[in-house]
Amino acid sequence: MPAYGNWINGREEASGATCETLNPYNQQPWATVAQGTVQDVDRAVRAARAAFEQGPWAAMTATERAALLRRLGDIIKRDAQELARIESTDNGKLYKEMLGQWQYLPEWFYYNAGLADKLQGDVIPSDRPNFMIYTRHEPLGVVGAITPWNSPGLLLIFKLAAGLAAGCTFVVKPSEHTPVSTVELARRIHEAGFPPGVFNVVNGPPEVGAALVGHPGIDKIAFTGATETGKKIAAQAARNLTRVSLELGGKSPNIVFADADLDVAANGAVAGIFAATGQTCMAGSRLLVQQDVHDALLDRIVEQTRSIKLGDPMDPATQMGPCANEPQLRKVLEYIDVARQEGASLKYGGQVDPALGGLFVQPTVFANVHNAMRIAREEVFGPVLSVIPFKDEEEAIRIANDTRFGLAAAVWTQNVHRAHRVAHRLRAGTVWINAYRVVSFAAPFGGYGESGLGRENGVDAIREFTETKSVYVELSGAPRDPFKLG
Ligand code: NAD
Repeated sequence: MPAYGNWINGREEASGATCETLNPYNQQPWATVAQGTVQDVDRAVRAARAAFEQGPWAAMTATERAALLRRLGDIIKRDAQELARIESTDNGKLYKEMLGQWQYLPEWFYYNAGLADKLQGDVIPSDRPNFMIYTRHEPLGVVGAITPWNSPGLLLIFKLAAGLAAGCTFVVKPSEHTPVSTVELARRIHEAGFPPGVFNVVNGPPEVGAALVGHPGIDKIAFTGATETGKKIAAQAARNLTRVSLELGGKSPNIVFADADLDVAANGAVAGIFAATGQTCMAGSRLLVQQDVHDALLDRIVEQTRSIKLGDPMDPATQMGPCANEPQLRKVLEYIDVARQEGASLKYGGQVDPALGGLFVQPTVFANVHNAMRIAREEVFGPVLSVIPFKDEEEAIRIANDTRFGLAAAVWTQNVHRAHRVAHRLRAGTVWINAYRVVSFAAPFGGYGESGLGRENGVDAIREFTETKSVYVELSGAPRDPFKLG
């Protein structure tokens, strides 16, 4: 079995304790991973602090950092197939989905490399003739990144590309369920020539993450994961006023108006909830359908759901893989029970797949869902669709916004006026019109409400890894009244 260590100060280290990581497809162990300790977190943070404050990384120009980022992008491009195979083995998502991600991820490094040496400050028009005032955007410092299991590489690189471009250093705690791709990334960061201490990895359970959040040497925690965990992390980080960015859960509305192309919308609804076995933060788990086309759309969706092929994530013909881990499967099955008890009508699925067993749950469609039901309010993070009827545009917007989350939403209509009108009123960080589940390195991504704090991706993301400093330069050289402000 391949063995993976922690990465501290440019070296991969074995540790006393190791843990086996499981392949969700067959639930067999396939790699061993070193388990970090609180002491490892402390050493990693010290290494990241030292790399940030002195040595080659601290001395590099932004243009030199950009060259390293491009080299890393090239290495990932070269190894995309290998990284996709590893991640698919670790989290059970389809190889073709993971390959698509890893082939696209180099763009994050290229884009942020382009931004690195364009982090310009301003010369402020001064209200005092004897002062020139300018601003600098300085790197924030040491970033603790904590990531979930669903797309460990992608969700780390959302943070890493912008943070490295800004000049920060990192200590990463990947999910205990899917640590391997992060260690593989560390090996490639080393190969690209990043100086020791710039990128460190400490594997382990949530306690290792909590040690990172509480460490006084951390300047910012960049977290992706569950909303309840995000709240705990924000509260803990507040003790040291450590900055936080949070990418959390969702209960995203996918709204189909009667004038939509129903075949295209049905396809979008299926992609929105069943791609990646529903294990995406942006899953379109609430399908809001205008009454006039409710039955016609539901029939199409059930028919398409029935034909979804479950199986080996490595097989190109497979359309849906297993749940990523046992606790997640149990959570999905519990929510299916809750929906039944609440009176939702099961139209398809609803159980562990009888042929495949293991962690395979059937794609599941519930109709007659009311937005007050738990199945419509809480994140399942699995392949369970709730179909909710609505009467008109006002009611659709009211139901869509009646949620504590606000990560994503979609509108399906052929009326261009309605499309934009509704998009403007939806309280969500991303809105798709006649599409679902598209992301770009160039577009900000993040949530309203309990879906998170801050934005990743796009031109401004690099600013989230900087502090702004104002510098006042006295021009006259004359002494001033020491007891007067300014
Ligand atoms: P999780 O919150 O249980 O765990 C995420 C990470 O946090 C893991 O590495 C875990 O070890 C660590 N952790 C847990 N408790 C901690 C604590 N108290 N202090 C520090 N670290 C702690 O989430 P998960 O089950 O791995 O992932 C699923 C969740 O992630 C879903 O809610 C999903 O919506 C969310 N998610 C959000 C986005 C987004 O971009 N908004 C993307 C993917 C997943």
